[in-house]
Amino acid sequence: MTTGSPYPNLLSPLVVGAHTLRNRVVMGSMHTRLEYLDRATEREVAFYAERARGGVALIVSAGCAPNDEGRMEEGSHVLDSAAHIGSHRAVTAAVHAHGAKMVLQILHAGRYAKHDRLVGPSDIPSHINRRTPRAMSGEDIERTIDDYVRCAELARDAGYDGVEVMGSEGYLITEFTASRTNNRSDGWGGSPENRCRFPIEIVRRIRARLGPSFMILFRISALDLVEGGLTGAETDFLARAIEDAGADALSTGVGWHEAAIPTISYHVPRAAWGFAVARLKKAVRIPVVASNRINMPAVAESLIAAGQADLVALARPMLADPEFVLKAAEGRADEINACIACNQACLDYIFSARPVSCLVNPRAGRELDFGCEPATQRRRIAVVGGGPAGLACAVNAAMRGHAVTLYEAGARLGGQLELARRVPGKSEFGELLRYFRRQLEVHGAEIRTNARATAWGLVAEGFDHVVLATGVEPRMPDIPGIDHCKVAGYADILLGVREAGRRVAVIGSGGIAHDVTEFLLSRDHEVDPAGFYAEWGVDTELRCAGGMAVAHDPVGEREITLFQRGSGRPGARLGISTGWVLRSRMKRHHVHTVTGCTYRGIDDRGLHYRVDGVDHVADVDTVVICAGQEPVRALADELREHGIEASVIGGARFAGELDALRAIDEGVSLACSL
Ligand code: NAP
Ligand code: SF4
Repeated sequence: MTTGSPYPNLLSPLVVGAHTLRNRVVMGSMHTRLEYLDRATEREVAFYAERARGGVALIVSAGCAPNDEGRMEEGSHVLDSAAHIGSHRAVTAAVHAHGAKMVLQILHAGRYAKHDRLVGPSDIPSHINRRTPRAMSGEDIERTIDDYVRCAELARDAGYDGVEVMGSEGYLITEFTASRTNNRSDGWGGSPENRCRFPIEIVRRIRARLGPSFMILFRISALDLVEGGLTGAETDFLARAIEDAGADALSTGVGWHEAAIPTISYHVPRAAWGFAVARLKKAVRIPVVASNRINMPAVAESLIAAGQADLVALARPMLADPEFVLKAAEGRADEINACIACNQACLDYIFSARPVSCLVNPRAGRELDFGCEPATQRRRIAVVGGGPAGLACAVNAAMRGHAVTLYEAGARLGGQLELARRVPGKSEFGELLRYFRRQLEVHGAEIRTNARATAWGLVAEGFDHVVLATGVEPRMPDIPGIDHCKVAGYADILLGVREAGRRVAVIGSGGIAHDVTEFLLSRDHEVDPAGFYAEWGVDTELRCAGGMAVAHDPVGEREITLFQRGSGRPGARLGISTGWVLRSRMKRHHVHTVTGCTYRGIDDRGLHYRVDGVDHVADVDTVVICAGQEPVRALADELREHGIEASVIGGARFAGELDALRAIDEGVSLACSL
């Protein structure tokens, strides 16, 4: 333990196998898709080096297949020949230069592979992949184990300190261990011993070939969260057998990709899976690494201090802030840009075949394209608007050394972030606000709240540059009776200025309508772990296969109906990795949707609308308007009349499809160009 440190457990060294790690923070493996870009090796070197420089002890590479069948998709990383190791050497050298260790993750995609050569223990397809895997023969299995060993050997030659064998999340190894996907009747299927033989042999043979100084991590599925997954007793058995086979540490994953329970999105309370990791820690003597929803040092410290884990794996938090460890060690945790678990620019980008980035840190994955060096000439910059775009611009301009004055018409900073953080589960947006506020303070920006900037005032102050981030205002649709007392704006509902009745009509069915619905459905607006386990059906004792329990149907206090004029699926544009969670919750809360309607009016009887030529009345107490936004940018025109061409960013530039991702990206991009 490092005494005198703010995080004595987290920052103390740990021996893992033949290696000493400088602290307890592992950068978890992530798909980056950097390999598909030009200058791919240079990009990967910059990406990993920046994280190593930030103080992390051990980096786990993106998943790399041991053979062609095991690739995630065409063109994704494979390491099956010495011809591939040059690019890896460049990465490992850069990481080692900053004092971190690095292991290669060997990931065989199994039946999740998105190409036609996919294989599995049995020919059972997954509902998240339209392809059916070819059932592996006994020879295939032996050859594949050899490929894992060969891949580990090549990893050593490429300078890695070891490997992490990916045995979680529903990929090939988990397909062998679970009866859900393994119906073999030979020595690789049937009993738990037979189903677990494949990973055990992989680890045993890698250890035999590579010797004691080669680090071997095994990423075990602490909790499968699918029917036909492992029970707690079976998971303990696998963990002990993997330890006996020669693994130096167990890293942990939670939930298969096809699980219908959220595992890492903002709906999941922080450190929610600690109970499953703690169970594994009791089963083995080797160190155990916790993962998922650990986004601040205090969360990590408490997991280790409580004896639930020995190390923590941070993946998305390393996108959000590469200096996480450094800041924690220097007592600057309040300067950490925390991962808010939105998945918008990491998982959702990967799922839509784009290279990884991060909503709160748009530089992530774009290190070569996005220099934010100190400014050569200090300029006086006014930023008007304290929402996400303005805050991101002000912070990054101030970081570069500019003299920044931030104007906010309201009493406090935040704009739409202030609203977002009130949505159940989205309180992490509060961390983003905390980060922005602290950075403004650290870099000496002048903040003027309750200050509505005017054109003549800005002109009089003689700024070198004016940035308008004046944001958006809610669109009020042209419906007869829009001024009726039943009508409420979404901001008033979220801020608690207005209380909705029991029967609610929501006009609009986009992102904000879904957020407001979540808000109206929840009794308390914080997500507590016990409520989460009960709602989603998680068996924290792991007595049942996959850790699945009966989900409790929520008791709704409100009847809610979402309306839209379009005929498409409501919420179709919600995030890929989070939209299904919202839709699932809405279904279980019996939220209704009406599509293809025209609004006829609002009066004492409720909302009058027409569908397919038939008139209806929704007998509701409250009509909440979530009908999109309009830009607020009158100041740009006024400034132009004074001969000043301001930079307009965020919702003020274009309100359609505005979200924090685009707002922050535009704010940081502009600040880096000033
Ligand atoms: P949005 O997603 O574009 O939805 C606007 C809704 O208003 C639509 O359902 C639209 O449906 C309706 N609408 C538009 N004009 C209307 C009019 N004149 N009269 C009546 N209805 C009208 O916008 P938003 O909900 O304001 O969200 C803003 C942005 O933030 C979006 O990009 C959204 O994706 C993002 N966001 C995402 C999330 C999330 O993913 N969880 C949460 C919050 C916000 P019709 O035109 O068919 O009637
Ligand atoms: Fe975290 Fe969101 Fe960034 Fe992904 S995009 S790393 S979830 S903050």
